[in-house]
Amino acid sequence: MRLALKPALSRSWRDSATLQFGTVTRFAGVLGNADKTLCDFLALLDGTRERPELLNEGERIGLGREPADALLTGLEETGLLDDAASATRALARFPDPHRDLLRPDLASLSLVHSGPGAAPAILGRRADTRIEVRGAGRVGAAVAAVLSAGGTGTVTVADSGRVKPDDCSPAGLPAADIGRLRSTSAREVVQRAAGRQPVPLPRHKPDGNPPDFVVLAPRDGSAAFAGGTYEARLLLRAGVPHLYVGVVEEFGVIGPLVIPGMSACGHCLVLRREDEDEAWPRVLAQLADGGPGQARTPACDTALATAVAGLAALHVQVYLDGGRPPSVDGYCEVSARDGMFRRLRLRGHTDCGCLWQPLPPA
Ligand SMILES: [Zn+2]
Repeated sequence: MRLALKPALSRSWRDSATLQFGTVTRFAGVLGNADKTLCDFLALLDGTRERPELLNEGERIGLGREPADALLTGLEETGLLDDAASATRALARFPDPHRDLLRPDLASLSLVHSGPGAAPAILGRRADTRIEVRGAGRVGAAVAAVLSAGGTGTVTVADSGRVKPDDCSPAGLPAADIGRLRSTSAREVVQRAAGRQPVPLPRHKPDGNPPDFVVLAPRDGSAAFAGGTYEARLLLRAGVPHLYVGVVEEFGVIGPLVIPGMSACGHCLVLRREDEDEAWPRVLAQLADGGPGQARTPACDTALATAVAGLAALHVQVYLDGGRPPSVDGYCEVSARDGMFRRLRLRGHTDCGCLWQPLPPA
């Protein structure tokens, strides 16, 4: 392990002898009695030396072996140290120029996951992850692009038909692709987001293994309100975690993120809405049919769709990186009226059965 002070952290003097690592005081690490010798030792933490060599250096510059050892332990416990060797290995999983594009992402991970080597391990796991995004509209294509940029090894986008103006956004399908196949345009967006030149890929041969995660983002935004579909039941049965995300009219919804058998599912949310409004199933069915009356122009604010896509991708990453985003047992709403996000809690519905435990053997 080649120890390095986390390059993501700024360094500033709080006073003549106190060093602060990090800008946000709430999360900052503070080191007192920072004299010249100690600063010389800190300069050696550049990721080129292992711990035994650092202790030798500590003795050589007059800090002392034991104080150097205690200092390293303190810095490690405060979350200020990372392992430069692990970071190099994790980034080597990605071809250039994606490797360079990912350095700030790795730096961010190093602040969220504190131990030396923890962030590189997570980035390495992302490289092995396969995510399928279903729907290449303003939200779905942008989610796929962001996940690809963030280091997800394989991102596929499932959709059919040709690109229409309603599908395009600065974060997703480009306007220049109107009329092209959505699947082709989405694949190129995913490749460009990872710094690659778009190339045709061999026809995908299903290997029988489900993806590690599925994002349900149909172009009509119905994932914002519809859950418990046949498609979702298959995912539940296969144990594939999935996230609903969509924009309907002026509302964006992120969630629920469903961990099969462990958190409330999309059908739980449908049942809850039925409890609150008995006419809801009828309204929802007509939404799917296009509804009565004249042709509609579906609403989808570009800024809203981009914000929703970004938050959805962040929730997927937080979950796959081992965290619990607020869309688990809940969902987030954001309105184009005021841009305010709010999180609503979602309990497993008693009539759903997704959280029922099997009966113990008699
Ligand atoms: Zn359920």
